Amino acid sequence: MDASNPSRRREMVRKTVYKRLNKPLPTGAGPARGSKPEIEAFFNSPQIHGLKLQICDIGRRLWQRTYVDGNGGNIAIRVGKDIALCTPTLVSKGFMKPEDLCLVDFKGNQLFGAKRRTSEILMHLQIMKRQPRAVAVVHCHPPHATGFAVAGMVPPTCLIPEFEVFVSAAIAPYRTPGTPELGRQIAGLVDKHNVILMANHGVVSWSHNNVEDAYFKMEILESYCRTILVASQLSRTPNIISPAQLKDLLKIKKNLGIPDPRYGRK
Ligand SMILES: [Zn+2]
Repeated sequence: MDASNPSRRREMVRKTVYKRLNKPLPTGAGPARGSKPEIEAFFNSPQIHGLKLQICDIGRRLWQRTYVDGNGGNIAIRVGKDIALCTPTLVSKGFMKPEDLCLVDFKGNQLFGAKRRTSEILMHLQIMKRQPRAVAVVHCHPPHATGFAVAGMVPPTCLIPEFEVFVSAAIAPYRTPGTPELGRQIAGLVDKHNVILMANHGVVSWSHNNVEDAYFKMEILESYCRTILVASQLSRTPNIISPAQLKDLLKIKKNLGIPDPRYGRK
């Protein structure tokens, strides 16, 4: 279906809205196609309210752990084939209310919500479009991981099992925040990686499970980067997880459905 045609796009949105509301598509008389009342009902439905609460909870945890600063960071959840729920712009992620959140289509057009959607939504949507398994995306600026991103470094691997199993990290070059080019650079990495360090900016993660899982990747990455910095202060060469031990960890990772470019490598 040609999503660039506005009436086709409205039709796609409408179909998704009805699917999510578990209602059959009305035929003949009924609300106008993709009309505001339909979208409003979807936005205010109990299913979407539950997801709004999850986003507010994750925002609070990001802020409490100092992974976001000022109005920084943003969160999005896929709520249909071509619709996402996301955080607003110019609001601290630590103090969001469910009514602050926004509904957008996959072109980034705001469908509903009193506040304006985050300017970085294009990046989230480009990840979801490129990686059909991505149901949630979290972006933030955790200081230790962002330090690695500023240094242009992906953290070294084979040091701690948690990181090996749950995270597959890569780094994308710096591009101006909010531009399609930044999203393009990141989207090019999400088939084999679930955490992307954004050079001179921060980190973005996606999950095929839920938004808390995408957030967990941030905790694991940030803790890992901090531990590496501590280990580097000790005047000893760190011990490394052996190739045979790594093979066992990658087996667990594959069973969890987490991508990794090392599968099948000798
Ligand atoms: Zn950012």
